[in-house]
Amino acid sequence: MEENKAIQVKNLIIGSGPAGLSAAIYTSRANLEPVVLTGMQLGGQVSLTHSVENYPGFPEGISGQAMVDSFQKQAERFGTKFVFDVATDLDLSERPYHVKTYGDEYLAETLIITTGATPRHLNILGEVEYTGKGVSYCATCDGHFFQGKDVVVVGGGDSALEEGLFLTRFASSVTIIHRRDELRGGKILQNRAFNNPKVRFIWDTVMTEIIGDGIVNAVKLRNVKTGEENEKSTEGVFIFIGHIPNTELFKGKLPMDEKGYLIVDSTMQTGIPGVYAAGEVADSTFRQVITSAGMGTSAAMQAIRFLESQEE
Ligand code: NAP
Repeated sequence: MEENKAIQVKNLIIGSGPAGLSAAIYTSRANLEPVVLTGMQLGGQVSLTHSVENYPGFPEGISGQAMVDSFQKQAERFGTKFVFDVATDLDLSERPYHVKTYGDEYLAETLIITTGATPRHLNILGEVEYTGKGVSYCATCDGHFFQGKDVVVVGGGDSALEEGLFLTRFASSVTIIHRRDELRGGKILQNRAFNNPKVRFIWDTVMTEIIGDGIVNAVKLRNVKTGEENEKSTEGVFIFIGHIPNTELFKGKLPMDEKGYLIVDSTMQTGIPGVYAAGEVADSTFRQVITSAGMGTSAAMQAIRFLESQEE
C-alpha cells in the first residue's frame, strides 16, 4: 500500500453498528477525531429491526433506524466523520496500521473493529422476498408482531430453542423444524422446550420454500429421511441456523476462535496493541444492542488510554 496517499487518523472504526457508533461517541469526545467506515449498512443489523424494546432509556421502545440515527447524530456532534466505504484490505504488521477501502487508504494509530455478524440464511425461494414480511432472524426484535399467530422456527441449536421459547410469549404455537432427529441445543433449553405446551417439533425436515401473498402464509417442507414433501400454513418464519462473523478480512492477521469470531481480552484488545474489536464480531454469546454498545465503549476507552500511554 502506498503510504504517501494515505489519510492519517488517530482512530479508525470499521463498522457502524451499535459497537462502532458507541466507540465513536467516546473517541470523538476525547478529541481523537475518529473516522467511521460505515460498511454497506449504516447501523448494521439493528437498523433493520422494527422496534428495539429492551434498550434502557426507551420505555416505549424505539425503531432500530431511529436509534441508529440518534447514535450517529451524537457521534457527529463531537466530531466523528462518517465515510460510506468498506475496508477491503489491511496491514497490521506495524503501527500506524494501514487500511485500504474502495475509495481511500488510511493510516490509523488505533483501530476498532466492529464489523458485526450476519445471520446465516437458508438460501431458499421466498426467503429474501419475505424478509420483514413474515420472515425474521430475531425473535427478540420481531416476536411481538406475532401475537396469537402460528409461527415456525428453523434450527436445532440453543438460539432456535431460546428464541422459540421466547416466541411462545406471543405466538399461539411455535413449531421448531429441525433437519435431524436430535437437537444441538443444551439439555436445559431442550427440556424447557419439550415441556412447553405451545412448542411442537417437526424432525428430520428441511424447509425448501417460503410462500406468501405479499406476506408469508405457508412453507414447503421436505422430510430428509422419507423424501416426503408437504406444505404447512404459518404466518411467521424465524430462522436461527447460526451467525457468520464478518471476519474474512482479518483471517491470518488477528487471532480468531474456531468459529471465526475475533478473540479479545477483557479490554477488547485483539492480539495486536492498539487494535480492538467489539460487538458481534467478537461476541457469539449475547448479541444485544446494549452489550455491543458496552463493548464498543470499552474498546474506545482502551484506545484512548493506549494513545495517552504512547504520548507519555
Ligand atoms: P448453532 O449452535 O450453530 O446451531 C445452528 C443450528 O441450525 C443447528 O441445529 C444446525 O443443525 C442448524 N442448521 C445449520 N445450518 C442449517 C441449514 N442450512 N438448514 C437447516 N438447519 C441448519 O447456532 P446457534 O444456535 O445460533 O448458537 C450459536 C452459539 O451461541 C452456540 O455456541 C450456542 O451454544 C450459543 N448460544 C447459547 C445460548 C444460551 O446458552 N442460552 C443461546 C443462544 C446461543 P445441526 O444441529 O444438524 O447442525
